[in-house]
Order: sequence, then C-alpha cells, then structure tokens
Amino acid sequence: MSRRPPSAYNELCRLSRELHLLANTSSLAAWDQETCLPPAGVAFRAKQLAYLSGKHHALFTDPRVGEWIAACEATGGSPASRSALNVREWRYHYDRASKLPQQLVEEFEETKALAHAAWAEAREKSEFGLFQPHLEKIVKLRLEMAQAWGYEQHPYDALLEEYERGVRTEELEKLFDNLQPDLVSLVAEATEGRPRVAPDYLAGKYPLSRQRAFNRLVAEGIGFDFQAGRIDTAVHPFCTTLGPRDVRLTTRYNRKNFTSSLYGVLHEAGHGMYEQGLPSDEDQAHLPLSRAISLGIHESQSRLWENHVGRSKAFWKRWLPVAADHFPHLQGLKLAKVALAVNQAKKSFIRVEADEVTYDLHIILRFRLEKALIDGSLSVREIPAHWNALVKQLFGLKVKKDRDGCLQDVHWSFGLIGYFPTYSLGNINAAQLFHHARRDASVAEELDKGRCEALLVWLREKIHRHGSRYLPNELMKRATGELPQAHHLLHHLRERYLP
Ligand code: ZN
Repeated sequence: MSRRPPSAYNELCRLSRELHLLANTSSLAAWDQETCLPPAGVAFRAKQLAYLSGKHHALFTDPRVGEWIAACEATGGSPASRSALNVREWRYHYDRASKLPQQLVEEFEETKALAHAAWAEAREKSEFGLFQPHLEKIVKLRLEMAQAWGYEQHPYDALLEEYERGVRTEELEKLFDNLQPDLVSLVAEATEGRPRVAPDYLAGKYPLSRQRAFNRLVAEGIGFDFQAGRIDTAVHPFCTTLGPRDVRLTTRYNRKNFTSSLYGVLHEAGHGMYEQGLPSDEDQAHLPLSRAISLGIHESQSRLWENHVGRSKAFWKRWLPVAADHFPHLQGLKLAKVALAVNQAKKSFIRVEADEVTYDLHIILRFRLEKALIDGSLSVREIPAHWNALVKQLFGLKVKKDRDGCLQDVHWSFGLIGYFPTYSLGNINAAQLFHHARRDASVAEELDKGRCEALLVWLREKIHRHGSRYLPNELMKRATGELPQAHHLLHHLRERYLP
C-alpha cells in the first residue's frame, strides 16, 4: 500500500474515530432511555438522538469522504491487508448511506414515526385498517430505497442487504423451501403425544434480588465479562455496546417464573460476548473492520447460548443446585423434568412466545409475505387474509384476531422489511456452529460437565475476532467448512424434542 497518499487513509481513520465517539454517545443516550429515563425527559431525548444521528450521517456522507475512499482504492495493494479491508468497509457503508436522497430519508423517518403510533393503536383495537395506509407508504418508500441502493435480481435483495450482507432472496427461498416441510412434520410430532410436564412445574415465588444474583452467576459462569459489561432491567430485553469494553445487557423479570429473566440474560449475553470478543484495542476499535458483520451472525451467538447451551440437560445439571440455593422451593425437583419444562413445543400464534421447534415457521411465514409485498404480487390490503391462510397451512391454527396475527410484531411499523429472516439464519448458524464446536473433543467434554470456557474460546477464534473481515457465508464456511445448512438445526431439534 506504499503508493497510497497517506493522508486519505489517515483522514478516514480520523473520521472513523469521531464517528465512533458519536455513535457510542447515541447508544448511551438510547440505553439510558430504555433503562432509566424519566417520562418528562423523553421529548428532549428524541431531539438529542435525532441530532446525534443527523450529525453522524452528515459527517459520513460528506463528498470528501467519497474522494478519500476513491483515493485509497486507486492505490492498489494487497486486498487482504487490514487497511484494504477497512477501505472495502468504508466504501460499502458510504455507498449505502449516500445513495439515498436526503428527501427520501426524511420522508421515511416521518412515516415511521406516524406508522408506529398507528400500529400501536391498530394492534390494541385489532383493526388492520388503521395501520394499512401507513404500511402501504412504508412499502412504497422501502421499494424506492431498494431502487436507489440497486440490486441484481430481486428488490428484496437490496433490503435484506441492510441486515445480512451478501444473502439473496433466491438463496433464502431455497433454504426455507427445504426447511418448511421437515419443520411442519417435526412440529406435529413434537406437539402431539409427547411426554410433558405441567406448565406450572417451575412456578413459585422468585424475588427479584435473588433472580438478579442467580442470573449474574450464570452469565459470569458462561463467560460474560462484568469488568466490561453489566445487566439492567428494561421492558424489552436487548444488548447494546456503549464503547470498547462496555457492553450492556437488559432483561425483564417475572416474579412467578425465574426462567423468563434467565433466558433473556442468556440470549443477550450471547450477543454481549460476541461484542466483547470483537477487536477492542485503542488503534482498532473505531475502525469498520472491528464491527460485527451481520444480524444473522449476531443472532447465531445469542441463540447458541440461549438454546444449545442454556436449554441442555448438562447446563441444568450444573445450575439446578445453584438455582435451588437461591430459590429453596426448587430443591428436590427432578433434573429430567426441569430440562423437559424448558423445552416444550406448542403451536401458537405469537412469534415472541414460540419455542425452538415452532419458531422458524413464524419466520418463514413473514418471509413469504414480505417477498410478495416487495415484488408486487401481494398488496398490503391482502395481508390479513394471506397471513391467516399461512397460519392455517403451517400450524393448522385459525387466527381470530389480527392482533394475534399480522398486527403482532412491531417490525414493519419501524420500516424493518427484510429483517425477520435474520432470526432464522441465526438459528441455522447457531446449530451449525454448535455442531462443529462439539467436534472439538475438549469443547464437548467441558460442555457435558456444564462448563463453557472451551466453547467461548472456540467462538472467539472462529467468529468474534474476525469482526467484519468475512461476509456471513464466508465466515460460516471458514468456521465450519460448509455454507449455512438447515439440516444441523433439524437434527438438533429432533434430538432434543423427539428423543
Ligand atoms: Zn437477539
């Protein structure tokens, strides 16, 4: 890279440092909003966040940035070098950010704000008609964005790209077409005539302070670093990074069942440990190569810890005695029954309450509708009827109210179209990574004893430390020797739910 004008690359590094400071300040303000902001502070916080993101956007889309990137690109050099990869990332993000006309961005922001309020009311009243005109506008604007970003085959590709780089509609279609029939029959087998435990088997009184203490021990036990993170309470569990070595998790509590907050923590800690494993040195943390590559990879980490580790018998063998120390009424419970209680399959209408077996059918349904909306073969007005028909086809259930059907999720009101598939990619990747990690004898041996150090080392080595170096498919290929394959997920579900 010797012929590159040093100033262009250095300018981009300097700018990245500044953008990183701004982005983390935004994250801090947003984290505060979800965890402790008093109601009267909400209006000012909205202005503060809008200012920070506007500033970030303006700095990054300055035409000079495009010139610096072009100057770096013109100098050649090894494409695998760290600097060349950072340039690749700048180019990618710069094009995504600068290809959208300002007017379109503003119209979209405004539409989302109104759509979200309309969705909340529509859901409350279970009246799709209240949300319909807003969703029509969102779909129209999203299509315009897809055109502005550009795509080769399907406009939905351009939207998927926002969340899962490199993944294509055609590829997802194949993946889901293969998964769907097997999943439908697996769901039937797992929900009919299997041994079950009573739904209130784990019910009892679970004081919040003891839940917090237990969750912390578990999170520490699986490897979440509390020197570089903490757990707080929020209405919707999430994970956010406020700076290098400052990763925040949140969970919510149910006083009658401790597993709700526990699985929230395990899921978010999976995200958090990925963030803690990204390059965080002073000279790298702000560079684009140090970021997580995609939502499908991020979600693979959360699902791996939540489901593959946290719902296993080996996990409960280690942690049930500790839980019983915190919640004495659990003493004497049978390990096999506890493991069964946290792995019960049930057909249901609501995605966020779905178990591991039924979950991906909810996603396949949303993918089919989104794709049809974007290619114009389905109109927004037809969504409720098509949603209900798919629920009937996939689950054999009859939707009675749109609030239990097409109005249940917040995503579309936020303009998130193309986001849902990343949940299933997360499940598919998690099963594949876990399968391959267990082929390492020391990982498997430790896991069988309820210990996770070797698994975390494996994930750090194969996934975390690479940041954005490899696109999702290549990262999976390098980590496991194969592109994402649904059969690992099916195998895992059969082993666990049809033993
Ligand atoms: Zn997640």
